[in-house]
Amino acid sequence: MTKDFWQEEIETMPRKQLEQLQVERLKKTVEIAMNSPFYGPMFKERGITPESIKSVEDIRRFPFTTKQDLRDNYPFGLASVPLEKVVRLHSSSGTTGKPTVILHTKKDIEQWADAMARSMYCIGLRSTDVIQNTSGYGMFTGGLGIQYAAERLGALTVPAGAGNSLRHLKFIQDFGTTALHCIPSYATRLATVLNENGVDPRETKIHTLIIGAEPHSEAQRKRIEEIWGAKAYNNFGMSEMCGPGVAIECKEQNGMHIWEDNYIVEIVDPQTLEPVKEGELGELVLTTLNREAMPLFRYRTRDLTRILPGDCPCGRTHKRLARFQGRSDDMMIVKGVNIYPIQIEKVIMEYPELTSDYLITLDTIGDNDEMTLEVELVQLVDDYAYLQNLNKELSRRIKDEILITPRIKFVPKGSIPQSEGKAVRVKDNRQNH
Ligand code: ADP
Ligand code: ZN
Repeated sequence: MTKDFWQEEIETMPRKQLEQLQVERLKKTVEIAMNSPFYGPMFKERGITPESIKSVEDIRRFPFTTKQDLRDNYPFGLASVPLEKVVRLHSSSGTTGKPTVILHTKKDIEQWADAMARSMYCIGLRSTDVIQNTSGYGMFTGGLGIQYAAERLGALTVPAGAGNSLRHLKFIQDFGTTALHCIPSYATRLATVLNENGVDPRETKIHTLIIGAEPHSEAQRKRIEEIWGAKAYNNFGMSEMCGPGVAIECKEQNGMHIWEDNYIVEIVDPQTLEPVKEGELGELVLTTLNREAMPLFRYRTRDLTRILPGDCPCGRTHKRLARFQGRSDDMMIVKGVNIYPIQIEKVIMEYPELTSDYLITLDTIGDNDEMTLEVELVQLVDDYAYLQNLNKELSRRIKDEILITPRIKFVPKGSIPQSEGKAVRVKDNRQNH
């Protein structure tokens, strides 16, 4: 077990001390946010002042902040510092609607780079690595966020950007890339391009993939590791919290350590907004502790996860988040049953004859919800009996998982439309949806 750290003192800080640090930073953050036109009046009304914060539990006195608040106050209504101190803005990818804007001071950018560099170090990346980034270098935080962090780590960084897989392939070969940052759906797509061009991804120098930005199952991770012959680590970030660098798996690959010197973590019941029992699934709610341009208090991420109990053998004391179930907005209610795409993905991944791309379409037929699942065959087959068998087995397995039998459609590899950014898994054509 490697026991080396980027910032040992912080990463292995005893819990009591870590909480003390959180209290100090929360006070400081309140002081900064009193200047925000959004939080200032709200704090006054509730009597929230730096001096009134005594423990981490005081976080419950704060109201929640939602994405809608960010939209309503677009673009600068949540700024806590004058705009002359702001050096950059980013926006979320807009996966679930109108984008929102996040502001950064110079210090915010530095702290963000540091948190992500810590995350990279945690999965074994070093200054000797060549890190190739497949995220877009624009408003999406996966571009510049990874860039600054990899530079801080001292690694040779290849800012290849999104798309153009052939160019990625060339860079991987020419520059001897050792680590890739990509969304999981692109990790498999890029591997296919390598294979189609006679390059076995396992033969490249890539030993590590940082995968994140979208939900994926453990089975998909295993598949990615298998095709690349490399380790793939789950990485969580969101623009509102800075971007990548919020939480990452350590080498144990058992939950993502969320850097609690930077965030207060709560898991709440999305309906009642009360904390769930320890270890139970709920919505992740985060408070920033180390940001100044636009601190956010009790931000409802809409991501569903839980905190893994117990200590991590790696020695880090920061809590671990379980793999995300998805966002509360990803949940489909089909025939009265709550379903997440990830449940279906898990089953698809059990079949090596299927690729990891899929599309769920929901329609109203008569008065009923109807689910169609398109899956891609790795290889074209014209054996009808075989396909019929596979169809039956797959729908039975999915029914076991979600209690609903989908109509299954096999399509050739590469025929499910691929989105520019994060994968789109569900098309809901139902009336009233
Ligand atoms: P958008 O909300 O428009 O997608 P962001 O790029 O800020 O904008 O994405 C943040 C969201 O991406 C998170 O709230 C979460 O839903 C998802 N996400 C990020 N990392 C992961 C991960 N490792 N696993 C699952 N979902 C993730
Ligand atoms: Zn660990």
